[in-house]
Amino acid sequence: MLVYISVDLEGINGVVHSSQTQPGEPGYERAVTLMHEETNAVIEGALSAGATEILVNDSHWDMRNLRQELLNPKAVLISGWQKPFSMMSGLDSQVAATCFVGYHSRAGTARGVLSHTYRAQVFFEVRLNGQPVGETGLNAALAGWMGVPVALVTGDDAVCAEASELMGPVACLPVKKAVSRYAAVCSPHKEVLSRLRAGAEQALAEPDGWRLFRPPSPSTLSITMIDPAMADAAELLPMVLRRGDRELEITHQDYAVLFRLMLAVGALGASRRDPYFS
Ligand SMILES: [Zn+2]
Repeated sequence: MLVYISVDLEGINGVVHSSQTQPGEPGYERAVTLMHEETNAVIEGALSAGATEILVNDSHWDMRNLRQELLNPKAVLISGWQKPFSMMSGLDSQVAATCFVGYHSRAGTARGVLSHTYRAQVFFEVRLNGQPVGETGLNAALAGWMGVPVALVTGDDAVCAEASELMGPVACLPVKKAVSRYAAVCSPHKEVLSRLRAGAEQALAEPDGWRLFRPPSPSTLSITMIDPAMADAAELLPMVLRRGDRELEITHQDYAVLFRLMLAVGALGASRRDPYFS
């Protein structure tokens, strides 16, 4: 059984501020230590459930946070950027199930720690076929498109609510309770690690609980940018339609193409960030 684990940082217990997620800032090294510990707890649970191969994809920022020498020796790590499917790179139909570790709620969630969707300074809102989605939804849909279910989500209570609203009852382990976008009630560290170990084992041992979130074909992504100039740049892409001052729309038969166009819209939008005026 090949298990794929996409690991973000904002949903790790103890992380409550964006400065903790930035390399070079005080607090970053501690956050990354906690990220390794939570990832290893999920890996150990997956191995106990019968996983024979573990593929970990570092899915935060420049995607060079995790160190392979600090991960469980059974895990293989995808490290670095650029990669073709970003937080879901390396996933294919050979994977039995995916786990989303350290995930956070979508852009615009008031009571969700460090809520954002892919590019926090570019995407105001992303909707998939009319439904607001964050990284959990966009990534689960890509997995579903490849025929791969989601077995487990970990993060704050807001991302757990978002995941189950989207996919139905999916195993989700809240490691902290959001108070606001920049505050949380953090659980005792050791207790979280043992809950992650046991919860991952239980979730991966019960395929009946896995959720396949397969988007219809064609599907539509509606993206509201933070600034109209970002939409000006992104609408240069073929298939990206301008629907308003800040609104873009993309429809495609193949969700994998749609997903990559969303990444391209984000990259082009980011090229128009005004350092003085936003
Ligand atoms: Zn993220």
